Amino acid sequence: MVMLEVKNLSVSYGAIEAVKNVSFEVNEGEVVTLIGANGAGKTSILRTISGLVKPSAGEIFYVGNDITKIPARKIVADGLAQVPEGRHVFAGLTVMENLEMGAFLKNNKDENAANLKKVFARFPRLEERKNQDAATLSGGEQQMLAMGRALMSQPKLLLLDEPSMGLAPIFIQEIFDIIQDIQKQGTTVLLIEQNANKALSIADRGYVLETGKIVLSGTGKELLESDEVRKAYLGG
Ligand code: ATP
Repeated sequence: MVMLEVKNLSVSYGAIEAVKNVSFEVNEGEVVTLIGANGAGKTSILRTISGLVKPSAGEIFYVGNDITKIPARKIVADGLAQVPEGRHVFAGLTVMENLEMGAFLKNNKDENAANLKKVFARFPRLEERKNQDAATLSGGEQQMLAMGRALMSQPKLLLLDEPSMGLAPIFIQEIFDIIQDIQKQGTTVLLIEQNANKALSIADRGYVLETGKIVLSGTGKELLESDEVRKAYLGG
């Protein structure tokens, strides 16, 4: 089943055309990655999918419905969750309170408690630090918290914006392992990354974005082995 279909999407900020006629899809159960350099338009695509930016043209179908006309809150309630670039945990709130914010749309206490248990099982480090102010976590732990918070809404589709950005190598590996684990548990993932090597290694399929356009697509393996990708993103 096609879970997400982006069709002829364009996004402009005034005179700047950040995304130009982009089309791609994500099937249920896949990890799909969009890779590209700084400013290629990755974040703009993600923010448009989650309803934070309005497209200048095109359509986005999530489980068959055009979501460009639906408010962001409703999109989250329908099972789509985003972990924004730069993580954005709530400073001044504990780890636990941050996770509770992720469940704000669900009023079912038992369900929330069960989800919290699952998140702690996946991120034991968060449980150890549950009463600690989120601002005092390391970068890698904050990324885990942002992912855990998104998982509290039990998403069908998880959008991740550069989860490895600025992290120490040991955390980078851990984050990519966790993404694979999330996929195994049945969540579909759209992963935006500058770390093309790691992203393509775990992705079923990928798309390469250059100045707002998709220039290449294929399986993760095909793209990892392609000369163009090796030259442009993997250092030759
Ligand atoms: P990065 O990896 O640096 O986040 P990206 O691939 O995610 O890059 P976008 O953030 O989508 O790229 O930006 C695409 C283009 O749109 C860039 O040229 C950027 O300067 C421009 N842009 C993004 N947001 C805005 C905005 N709010 N107003 C004006 N221009 C913007």
